[in-house]
Amino acid sequence: MPGSLSAAPQSADAAALSSLAARAIRWQTVHGRNSLPWQNTRDPYRVWLSEVMLQQTQVATVVSYFSRFVKRLPDVAALAAADVDEVLALWSGLGYYSRARNLHRCAVEVVTTWGGEFPRSAEALVTLPGIGRSTAAAIAALCFGERVAILDANVRRVLSRVLAFDADLATQAGQRALWAAATELLPQRDLKRAMPRYTQAMMDIGATVCAVGQPACGACPLAELCRARQSGSAESFPRITRKNKRSAQSVWLLWAHTRDEAVWLDRRPPVGVWGGLYCLPWFHSRDDLIASLPKRHHSALRDLVAFRHVLTHKDLHLHPVRLLLGGDALASISGRWFGAGQWPGLGLPAPVRALLQG
Ligand code: SF4
Repeated sequence: MPGSLSAAPQSADAAALSSLAARAIRWQTVHGRNSLPWQNTRDPYRVWLSEVMLQQTQVATVVSYFSRFVKRLPDVAALAAADVDEVLALWSGLGYYSRARNLHRCAVEVVTTWGGEFPRSAEALVTLPGIGRSTAAAIAALCFGERVAILDANVRRVLSRVLAFDADLATQAGQRALWAAATELLPQRDLKRAMPRYTQAMMDIGATVCAVGQPACGACPLAELCRARQSGSAESFPRITRKNKRSAQSVWLLWAHTRDEAVWLDRRPPVGVWGGLYCLPWFHSRDDLIASLPKRHHSALRDLVAFRHVLTHKDLHLHPVRLLLGGDALASISGRWFGAGQWPGLGLPAPVRALLQG
C-alpha cells in the first residue's frame, strides 16, 4: 500500500524511519511545550480534562478554562459530585457542550464503576463516555507509559506527511492503515519515560511546526525523514476526500427582561446547537416569535442589530428581539425568570452571554 511502512520494510527509507521516535523525543526535550498547566503531571484527571478541552479548541483559549475548572473541581470525585449545570457553566464559551456533559458522565462512571481511579489501559479507557481512541491513548501513554499511538488531527497531519501517506483518511481502511503505521513508529524501549515524551513531541510538532498551511519544515526534527517534504507536496497531506459542508441558519432570540435585569431563559434540547444550555427562547422566524406572544406585547418589541455566530459546521445569523416586561410570566413560552444574580452562573452559549452582558 502506498505510504504504509510495510510497503518497503527493507529499504533505507524504512530504516531511517525507525529513528523517528528518537528524533522526536530529543527535539521535544529542548523545543517542545513543557510548561502548560496540564503538563508535568501524570494525573489522569488533568490529562483527560485537557485532552477533552483541546478537542476543537486552541491551547491559548484552553489555558484559562482549564485553570478555572480544576480550581473549582480539582479531581474526578469533585466533578462527579458537581451538578451538571455547574459543569456547563464552567464550560460556557468553549462550545461543543456534549463534551462537558460527557465529562460529567465519565466522572460519575469512574467513581461508581472504577472506585474513583481511572483505568490504566487505553483498551479500558475507551469504554468510558466521551473518550475516543486517540484520547484514551493519550491518557494511557502520557500517564502510564503504555505503548499506544495517538492520532488526533495534528498527529495525523504530521504522520501522513512524513510517510506521504496517500490512502484516503475518509475511509475506514485508510484510517486503519495509518493507525497501524503510527503504532509501528512508537518507541520500543524504556516506555515509562519514552512514551510520555514521544506522545507530547508528536502533539507539539503538529501544533507548532507542521502547520496546516506552510509547515515550518526548516525547524522540524523529522525533516530528514519526511517524504512529503522531499517531494515538495506537504500541503497535499493528509488526504481526506470527504469535506464538511457548511450551512447557515437564521434564528430569532426573544430577550425578555425586567427593569431589574431578570431574564426569561429556557433550556435547549439535549441534542443539537447549544444542547443542554440555557438560552433565550429561540424561534425560526420573526413571525413565529410574534405569534408566541400575547397581542398586548407586540408593539413593545424592539429589534436589535442582527449578528453572525460561527459554529464549526454552520453559521448562525442571530436576530435578538428585546421586550421589557414587568415580571409577568410568559405563559405561552417555555422557560422561567432568572434574576440578575442567577443567570450569570448558568451554562449559557457565548454569544447569548455576551448579549446579556451588553
Ligand atoms: S518536514 Fe515539514 S511537512 Fe514534514 S513533518 Fe516536518 S513540518 Fe511537516
